[in-house]
Amino acid sequence: MGRAYVYVILGGGVAAGYAALEFSRRGVGHGELCIISEESVVPYERPALSKGFLLPEAPTRLPSFHTCVGANEERLTPKWYNEHGIELVLGTRVKSVDVRRKTLLTSLGETISYKYLIIATGARALKLEEFGVSGPDAENVCYLRNVADATRLVEVMQSCPGGNAVIIGGGYIGMECAASMVINKMNVTMVFPEAHCMARLFTRKIANYYEDYYKSKGVKFIKGTVLSSFEKDSDGKVTSVVLRDGTKLLTDMVVVGIGIRPNTSLIEGQLTLEKGGIKVNGLMQSSNSSVYAVGDVATFPVKLFGETRRLEHVDSARKSAKHAVASLMAPNKTWDFDYLPFFYSRVFTLSWQFYGDNVGEVVHYGDFLGSTFGAYWVKNGYLVGSFLEGGTKEEYEAIAKATRLKPRIEDLAELERQGLGFAVLI
Ligand code: FAD
Ligand code: NDP
Repeated sequence: MGRAYVYVILGGGVAAGYAALEFSRRGVGHGELCIISEESVVPYERPALSKGFLLPEAPTRLPSFHTCVGANEERLTPKWYNEHGIELVLGTRVKSVDVRRKTLLTSLGETISYKYLIIATGARALKLEEFGVSGPDAENVCYLRNVADATRLVEVMQSCPGGNAVIIGGGYIGMECAASMVINKMNVTMVFPEAHCMARLFTRKIANYYEDYYKSKGVKFIKGTVLSSFEKDSDGKVTSVVLRDGTKLLTDMVVVGIGIRPNTSLIEGQLTLEKGGIKVNGLMQSSNSSVYAVGDVATFPVKLFGETRRLEHVDSARKSAKHAVASLMAPNKTWDFDYLPFFYSRVFTLSWQFYGDNVGEVVHYGDFLGSTFGAYWVKNGYLVGSFLEGGTKEEYEAIAKATRLKPRIEDLAELERQGLGFAVLI
C-alpha cells in the first residue's frame, strides 16, 4: 500500500513550480497535491544556472531563485509548500508509471496513486557517449542541466583560475556558458559543427554580430567540426580535446552543451508521442484523459502556426503548466492553449528576444554595427517571427504584439525600410 493523491506532478522543475502556484490560487485542498522529484530541492528557475549562478561576484544561489520569481510572482520556498499543504517527495526518482492503474513506483519501492497526473519530467542533457566519444566521465568535463551540475561546473572552473576551457556546442548552453566563463576570466574556445552559432534560430547575419562580440571578449570559435576524442593525464583528467581533423586543443576543462532529449521513457508504449514529446491537446491532456503533460516534455498544438510543437523554453514551461492546472480545476472555463512561442537570452550586456516562428523569408533591420537591430520572418506573405536585440520593454512588447497579429506583408523592402517602426506602429 502507498499514498494516494488527487493530483500528482511527476518532476520538480520549472513547470512543476508554476503548476503548484496555480493549484494554490485555484484553491487546491491540503493533502490533495503531491510533487515527486529526483532533485533534492524544491522547484527553481533553471535559466539562472547558466547566468547568475556562474558569476564570480555575488553569484545567485538558492533559495533566491526558487520558482516563481522568474515571472515576478511569489517565491515558493519549502515553507510555502508546507503552509499550502502540498506534499513534496524530493530526491526520489520515479521508476515506473502505470497509467491504466494510475500508479507510480518510486526508487524507494513506494507506490503512489493519483486521480490526475501531470508529467513535468523535462529533459536530460545529451551525452558525448551517444555520439560515440568515449571518456567524458572525467571530473573536468561538465554538463549543465541541474543545480548539482552547475555547482560542479563552478568548482571545476575555480580549480583552474584563468585556465583554458573548451565548450562543445554552439547552442544556448554553449553561448551562455561561454559568456559566463569569460566573465570568470577563463580562456574560452567554442567548437561546434555548424557554420555559425545558434544555427537553429539565428541567421548568419545575426550570428556574425554575436560571434564578433564574443571574439572582442577573447572567445575563439572553431566551426564546422566536432571533437573525436579526449586525451587524459594519469589522474584521468582531460588535458586536451582532439578534433576530427587531428587538431589538439590543450584544456583545463570542458563544458558540453549538445542538446537535450525529453524524459519520456516512463510512459513510452502507454501514451501517444509526437515530435519526441508526449502529444497533448489544447488542454495539455495526453492520449490518456487522466494524464497531462507540460513543459519540455509536451508536444502541444500551437494555434498560431496550425501545427504541434515541442518547445524547450522557460516561458512555455510556465504557461503550459498554468494552463494544464486551469484545465483540470476549471474545465468548463478553460479553452485551448493559445501560445505565442517566446525565446530569449542575456549574455554580457547583450539581451535579445524572439517571438513566433523562424521560417520563411528573413528581413533584417536596424543597426548591426550598433546595439539595436533585429529581423522579421515572413512566410506566405504573413509576418510569423520577430527578433530584437537591445530593445526596450515597450519595443519587445511591440514585436510580440505584431507577431501575434500575424499581419499581411505585401512588400519586404518596405518592411525593411520601416524596421522596428513597423511593429511599434502596428
Ligand atoms: P525541468 O525544469 O527540466 O524539470 C524537470 C524535473 O523533472 C527535474 O526536476 C527532474 O529532476 C525531474 N524528473 C525527471 N525525470 C524524473 C523521474 N523519473 N522521477 C522524478 N523526477 C524526475 N529557457 C529559456 O527560455 N530561457 C533561458 O534563459 C533558459 N536558460 C536555461 C539555462 C539552463 C542551464 C538550462 C538547463 C535550461 C534553460 N532554459 C531556458 C530552458 C528551461 O529551463 C526549460 O525549458 C525548463 O526548465 C523546462 O521546464 P520543465 O519543468 O519542463 O523541465
Ligand atoms: P541546443 O539545441 O541549443 O544546442 C546544441 C548545440 O550542440 C548545437 O550547436 C548543435 O549542433 C551542437 N551539437 C549537437 N551535437 C553535437 C556534437 N556531437 N558535437 C558537437 N556539437 C554538437 O542545446 P543546448 O545543449 O545548448 O541547450 C540545452 C537546453 O537548454 C535546450 O533545451 C535549450 O533550449 C535550453 N537552454 C535555453 C536557454 C535559453 O533559452 N536562453 C539557455 C540555456 C539552455 P546541431 O544543431 O548541428 O545539432
